[in-house]
Amino acid sequence: MNNDVSASAAVAGLDLGETFTFDELVSAVQRRRRRRLRIVELVDLGDHDGLCAVWLMTDGEDLVLHAHSDSALHRQQFVLHELAHMILGHNFDDDPEAPDFLLPDIPRNTRRRLLRRQDLDTVEEVVAETLADRLAAAIRGSAMLRSRYLEIFG
Ligand SMILES: [Zn+2]
Repeated sequence: MNNDVSASAAVAGLDLGETFTFDELVSAVQRRRRRRLRIVELVDLGDHDGLCAVWLMTDGEDLVLHAHSDSALHRQQFVLHELAHMILGHNFDDDPEAPDFLLPDIPRNTRRRLLRRQDLDTVEEVVAETLADRLAAAIRGSAMLRSRYLEIFG
């Protein structure tokens, strides 16, 4: 399968057009998956060897936990990478290495995925990161369109 084509098809399936805001993207993913999506910053995350974000699937919702970063763009990229996995329909088995410190109140057997973003060594990780870049570009495009609009009409 051509990964580039599948990523394009996955994005087209979201029905968002060429540019969109981050919030529009989150809404589209929720619609697509018919599940609530919550994005939570974990202040304590970040000191644990490069762990940037985690996607947890519980019975009722998708949870993206991400590390704190002073750069809003970094934070967004962490989350976009996880959204990319969802959009691409990646399914992960429980990661036995998922540390319990993350969310001790979520039972182990409901966890699906722990991400270490620096491990971009599998096809799925590379495709997700590529799609995350593409999503970031579409969000940037949306912000630029908006500011141009304000310049002209504001
Ligand atoms: Zn990943």
